[in-house]
Amino acid sequence: MVRVRFAPSPTGLLHIGNARMAVFNWLFARRHKGAFILRIEDTDVARSEKKYTNQLVEDLHWLGLTWQEGPDVGGQYGPYLQSERLPVYHDICQKFLNEGLAYRCYCTPEELEERRQIARLTGKPPRYDNRCRTLTDKQKKTFETSGLSFTIRFKVPEELLVFDDLIRGTCQFDMSLVGDFVIMRSDGTPSFHFAVAVDDTLMQITHVIRGEDHLSNTPCHILLFHALNRKPPQFAHLSLTMGADRTLLSKRHGAFSLSEYRKLGYLPEVLLNYMILLGWAPRDKKEKFKIDDVTNTFEIGTMSKASSVFDQQKLDWLSGQYIREADLERLTNLAIPYLQAAGFISTDENKIDRAQLRLMVDAVRNNISCMSQIVQEADIFFKDAVVSEKHVEFLSSEISQSVLLSFYRELQKLDALSPEIFKEALTAVQKETKVNGKGLYMPVRIALTGREHGPELYGIANILGISMCNKRIERFLLVKK
Ligand code: GLU
Repeated sequence: MVRVRFAPSPTGLLHIGNARMAVFNWLFARRHKGAFILRIEDTDVARSEKKYTNQLVEDLHWLGLTWQEGPDVGGQYGPYLQSERLPVYHDICQKFLNEGLAYRCYCTPEELEERRQIARLTGKPPRYDNRCRTLTDKQKKTFETSGLSFTIRFKVPEELLVFDDLIRGTCQFDMSLVGDFVIMRSDGTPSFHFAVAVDDTLMQITHVIRGEDHLSNTPCHILLFHALNRKPPQFAHLSLTMGADRTLLSKRHGAFSLSEYRKLGYLPEVLLNYMILLGWAPRDKKEKFKIDDVTNTFEIGTMSKASSVFDQQKLDWLSGQYIREADLERLTNLAIPYLQAAGFISTDENKIDRAQLRLMVDAVRNNISCMSQIVQEADIFFKDAVVSEKHVEFLSSEISQSVLLSFYRELQKLDALSPEIFKEALTAVQKETKVNGKGLYMPVRIALTGREHGPELYGIANILGISMCNKRIERFLLVKK
């Protein structure tokens, strides 16, 4: 059975770049009816924080991802927090020492740095020179009794290591360029390489899907899998996501963390859809799809080797498509907290006119790409417009005034408004004033909303109702510049 894992380090908020790794692991598991596991790599005590673990669990759930094993759901290969697995790493490390696969290294960080500098100056690879591998018994004894701290290093064979990556094809690494690497730090915490390989072995991971920034770590992991008597999993190194300037994606490119996107009111299925487009495309090249549509056709081997480029505009375009088609009741529920925070509607849910709110959301949904934008778009229903000087000038022209006056007179004849009635009133104005097109509806639109663009005029008038329309038109009757 396929078993994959997402193994984040909880050192910050989950960014769209690393959330994408979770998404592809999850999709791969679904595709192959396998298990998706969440493992938290929190052995870097100084940088890891519990709040980030909690947040990423929440964010991934919000996105719609589920996992069969993980810190919050348990599972038979737990614990799933590396910080709770220290005894496991120590046992295996001891086994490696006993079997002669690893050794204690007493070199200090200062000595190592000095040797790295020299290697650099002499044009040699800055690898560890393996000197503690060949300590004599006498030297070992002296170090041991001196109480010096030590790390534990894995003996790297000088060989050409070859493996097949599901995306990148055959990869080769000359291990003579890699020195014996640390598997246990002097403070008793496992190194990244060691913890990953031990956990992938014990958790029976069959496929490691991760960013290509880890490609150069893979040979070290493969050596460890061999030492653990385990056939290495298959590897798929995904290309990374860049900003438009071709540097690694960051906040600078307008890319937010998942929780920020959530706060801005993006729908989770939009982000899921968009992240899958970063590096993959369905055969029919459709950009908007449901997960179920692509689950059976997703092939990891067809993912792009080239890095993908994050494009906020495209995300917004996609998001707009989803919002236009989303269930109105759902959108209305999502809109409420933003409108409450803006002071537009009551914080008491019982006092909200939901029918009216649904009309408003429906009227503006074409103009927004995330739900927080509802505040800017729907303010026309709640506040009298602040009209710019340019617009006052426009409204005070003879033509605009004749339109507004005629429209006002029409309004006085009515006792109810609907999109149809509004349309008829405008037709009557057109007949009376002989003004057509933009000249006809723009004065009305600006007087009612203070803007040249926005939701459909008939819908707006319907939501505002007669008395509000009257009031807003009155403001601009007989205006003089
Ligand atoms: N903790 C590593 C990271 O966040 C995981 C690497 C891996 O997937 O093996 O990059």
